[in-house]
Formats: sequence, structure tokens, C-alpha cells
Amino acid sequence: MSDSRHQRISGRTAELSAGLPVQRFIPTRERRMIGAWVFLDHIGPADISAGKGVQIGPHPHTGLQTFTWMIEGELLHRDSLDTVQTIRPGQVNLMTAGKGISHSEESPQSRSRCIHATQLWIALPDEQRFIEPAFEHCAEPPVTHLGPAQITVIAGSAFALEAPIKVYSPLMAAEIVCADAGPLTLPLQRSFEHGLLVLDGVVSCDGRELDSSELLYLATATESLTMTCHGPCRLLLIGGEPFNEDVLIWWNFLGRNKQELHDYVRRWNAAEDFGTVTGYDGDRLAAPLPPWKDQNGGT
Ligand code: MN
Repeated sequence: MSDSRHQRISGRTAELSAGLPVQRFIPTRERRMIGAWVFLDHIGPADISAGKGVQIGPHPHTGLQTFTWMIEGELLHRDSLDTVQTIRPGQVNLMTAGKGISHSEESPQSRSRCIHATQLWIALPDEQRFIEPAFEHCAEPPVTHLGPAQITVIAGSAFALEAPIKVYSPLMAAEIVCADAGPLTLPLQRSFEHGLLVLDGVVSCDGRELDSSELLYLATATESLTMTCHGPCRLLLIGGEPFNEDVLIWWNFLGRNKQELHDYVRRWNAAEDFGTVTGYDGDRLAAPLPPWKDQNGGT
């Protein structure tokens, strides 16, 4: 457990929505992906009773799935497939962008004081990245128990359970909740690399404390992860087979080369494709131009 194939990745503060900071863990210079997981934001826990909470106007995605796991509070999702879905604690929203979709996210009018969530992106393999867009809501992901831990499998397969949402590469995500201090050992899939993020509480791994400021990365061929919970804690474990395709991200687009991303920016800003989100009280977001030149000579 102490070899160099395990690393700690510090979160950096980003702004999800006006006045609402998040901790972003991947992509980062030292670790771009964990399996097909290519983006990980830890939102809150934050008191949003004073401001407007989350208000993210219509914006597009391509080539990925957005994955939201709600811990406290709620979010209202709208998309260009005419989906209107509130997500509540213990629930998953999975939006498959494929060839292109647009969506908005907002704190509902009758919101609770607090928001606490994780939002991740899953890269689609080359063969599926232009599929038709889709949306799935999972209200009751499967739960199991392992020693002192309650484990909810929220994506893919792990701990002998399978989450009922469609993913396109071998991967997993689970929330692990321990009610008390004590030791915890989690068996891992050897062919997967993994990431462990503490959402609440503090644990010790390798004799070092781990809290919500760092993501612990575990390379493939790791059989298990042993830790000590210092008290009640809530953890997010993600994993997957190493994703052997080079992906490029610009803004909310995932593609394979700069020209493709430039075309997405131009098409979104020209209101071509990506559909229309109805019912959101606010403006659609403008895509920032990438710093590289459009090889077609446009902007
Ligand atoms: Mn989005």
C-alpha cells in the first residue's frame, strides 16, 4: 500500500455556480483519468440558504456521461430531451451526452439549506461517443453491507452488485458509509485502478490521515484497501479499467482532437444542434473560444 503506484491528489477550488465553490480532483496534471472517470467535483457541503444556490444555465456536452450523486439537498435537472428531474439524497442522475445534448441545473425554489453532492464525467469509448443522447434517473441504487460499512453501488459493478444505469466501459462507483470509528477493508477489482475520496469524516490509510482535501489514487493490481475510520465517515470509491484512448476536454466538450472541439464551440455558440432546454429561468452559457487556432480558418 505504500508503493509509488499510489498517490494523493490535492483538490483545487473551482466555482460551480456564482458563490458556490467546489473541490475538483480530476483531471489534474498528475492524474487525468481513473478508468473512464475523467472529471470529479465534490460540491459542498455548503449552506445555500442566503444565495440562489446552484444556477447553471443551459450548456452542452459531447462524448461523455454526466453522473450526479446527491448526498444532501436537491437539484433540478432539465435537458434538451425534455427531461425534468429532481434528484434527492441517495439518488443518481446519469445523462449520456453522446453526439450532443444540452442541460441546465438549478436549486429548486423550495430548496433545503444545504447542498452536498458529487458530480463526475465518464468518457465514452470511441465506438459509443456519437450515440444518441439519453437520460436515466436511479431512485434506489442497490445496497449491501460489509463489516461495519453500508455500501451503495451507484455505477457499474462492485461488491457483487450492479447499478441499474447504462455505462459503456468496465467501471464502478460506490458510496461507503461507516457509522462508527474502526477498521475497514474493502476488496478491490484487480483489473481496475481506483480513487477514494472522503466525503465526510477522516480516515487513515498507510498510517496517514486522509480527509476531503485529497483523493487517494490506487493503481491496478491492488487487491484491497485497508483503512481506519476515525469516527463516522462517508466515502466515495470510483474505479475502472485504464481507459486506453487519449481524450481532450475543452469547457464541457469531450473529444479526440482540437478541430473537433473547435467545431463544437462554434456550433453551440451559433445555436446549431444540441437541442433546446425549456423552462430554465436564465440565459444559456456561451462557450469560451479555445486558445488554439481553428484549422478551418473560422473562429
Ligand atoms: Mn453539465
